Order: sequence, then C-alpha cells, then structure tokens
Amino acid sequence: MATATPAGGTRRRCAQRWPRATELHMIHHPSPNFGPRRNGERPELVVLHYTEMASAEAARDRLCCAQAEVSAHYLIGRDGRLWQLVDETQRAWHAGAGAWQGSGDVNSRSIGIELDNDGQSPFSAPLMLRLEVLLRQILTRWNIPAAGVIAHSDMAPLRKIDPGPRFDWQRLARQNLSIWPGSNGDPNAPLSASLDMIGYPEAAPEARLKAFRLRFRPSATGPECAADRASADAVAKLCQTFEN
Ligand SMILES: [Zn+2]
Repeated sequence: MATATPAGGTRRRCAQRWPRATELHMIHHPSPNFGPRRNGERPELVVLHYTEMASAEAARDRLCCAQAEVSAHYLIGRDGRLWQLVDETQRAWHAGAGAWQGSGDVNSRSIGIELDNDGQSPFSAPLMLRLEVLLRQILTRWNIPAAGVIAHSDMAPLRKIDPGPRFDWQRLARQNLSIWPGSNGDPNAPLSASLDMIGYPEAAPEARLKAFRLRFRPSATGPECAADRASADAVAKLCQTFEN
C-alpha cells in the first residue's frame, strides 16, 4: 500500500555535514526559568511558538524574567539572531497545559523555540533560515523524527494559536524538518480518529478542527469537510510511518 513519505526524500542522518553549534553564532543568555526534566524524560518533540511581542529583545527579557515564570530553550529574532536561554538537557517552561499523543507534561518531553513574530506578519527569511539550521541539529542530536516538530496550537488547541496561520510548515516539510500531508488521504476517514492518531489531545470537536486547520489547512473555513478528513487521514498515515 502506498504511503506518503516526508517531502524531499529520505531523512538525512549525516550529522557532521551540518554546521556546529558555534557556527550558529548562538548568543548565550541564560534564563533562570527551568528545572530538571521529570521522570527521566528526554526531548522527543520540538514545539514552535511565536512571541507576539514588539521586539526580540522584549521577548528575550520576558523569557529571562524570574517573575514571568516562562522560558524557552531558544529564541530567534526576525533578523536571524539566535539566543539560547535554557540548556537542551533541562526542562524549559514554554508549553504549559496540554498534551500530545496521549501524554501531558510536554515541557519534559520537548525543546521549545520562540520565533520573533507578531502573529500577523510573514516570518522573515533570516529567521526561517536560522530555524532550519537549528532544527536540523536538534532533530539529529535527539533522534527526533520530522513528525515530532509541532505547533504550540497542536498540543493546546483551546488555549493557543501560535505559531499561527502565517507559519510555513510546508517549507519545513520539504526539508524533512516537519510533515505535510500527501494526496493519499481518504475523504471518508473519520476526522476524530485521524486527529487522535496524529496526536491531538481531547478537546471539543470544533477546537480540534481549528487547531488542525491552523497547521495544515490555514485558509479553510466553515464546518468540517471532505478536504479536512482527507488531509487528516494523510497526516495520520504519515505519522504511522514514523512509528513503524
Ligand atoms: Zn506558544
């Protein structure tokens, strides 16, 4: 049976071909907002966010303010500057309440990346280029599959909408840094079952549909339709290929 594969061919596993951390020109700016990963968890997901703040510096300062009690492992400015705020081995406080693939405490299971964007504007080219280099390193370092790169809105459908409809997931998928549905989806496959299989948490059907569309069908409106079901089925099939 034909199954969709990640866009762009086989996954690259040759870590040494990619720039070393120092070549990312990382700015170390430690945040006090972190703790140990719980229950021996290690990163198996990467959660993407947007900052929705006026500047990268404003976001950086908030992510490093003890009173704010929020953080992320990385922050990428719209000019491509990259700050590391929390060591990858530690548990940063970016995901909050939510779940993915049946498990909560996403903070213990993930690496969080904040993107300097207001939620309305396109994501800048320097930001995307820096994100792609960083993601390649993280996925290789922790052996995270492309399906493990998710939106904050995926794991918290009722609460969050970032990184929002302007974020170019297809671009990441073309480089095996995320996934995008093929054309092998069944328009009659029950949407709820597909969303469960992908990893979406329990929530009202409308909230789950909204979260799925934000990520995979950002221009879609109105009630659930055959295109939603076909896309979700294709994504679910794609996720299964990573599990096998
Ligand atoms: Zn977020």
